[in-house]
Amino acid sequence: MSEKNARGLIMTFTGNGKGKTTAALGMALRALGQGMRVIVLQFIKGGREYGELLMEEKLGPNFEIRQMGLGFVRNLSEQQKEQHKQAAIEALGLAAQIIGSDKYRMVILDEVFYGIKYGFFTISDLLELLRSKPYDLHLVLTGRDAPEEIIVLSDLVTEMKEIKHPYKQGIVAQKGVEF
Ligand code: ATP
Ligand code: MG
Repeated sequence: MSEKNARGLIMTFTGNGKGKTTAALGMALRALGQGMRVIVLQFIKGGREYGELLMEEKLGPNFEIRQMGLGFVRNLSEQQKEQHKQAAIEALGLAAQIIGSDKYRMVILDEVFYGIKYGFFTISDLLELLRSKPYDLHLVLTGRDAPEEIIVLSDLVTEMKEIKHPYKQGIVAQKGVEF
């Protein structure tokens, strides 16, 4: 089978150790090098100027990255929770549109399990999305606590295992390493 007709894979990076988003971005770089169109959808908006966002223009028209969530969820009021839920549902809807558009060879859903953990959408919603993927699309999922059903459906699953992390020594997030 020629490369063009090869089946796209579902690939999941999970676990508590560092490297899930970095692995996905590394794969994006590789795919770009092969002339593929890649989009990264980040389900949680961080509060920083992430290097990967700053790279969007430099990487050219085949690379897109969008932040869609509202930020980390902690101690939210009921009203804020509802807003986060709406943002997560919209993000999933946009992901469905993008996946269905057949414009990309690789779609990365970064921190996508977070919405399930907080009850913003269900595992079934995500499974439905995965099952709708075009045949040759590579779909990359990242996030802690990948649900078992997603693991079963994935072709590749890597669990990042923490052995050491500088945070544990009180070293704060480093530019170029964490963001
Ligand atoms: P990265 O984006 O650096 O590849 P990640 O995607 O594996 O990390 P996330 O679960 O998305 O990790 O966590 C986001 C942030 O938390 C990152 O800045 C990361 O460095 C940090 N982090 C990851 N693992 C740990 C850990 N075991 N302890 C503390 N902080 C961590
Ligand atoms: Mg991450």
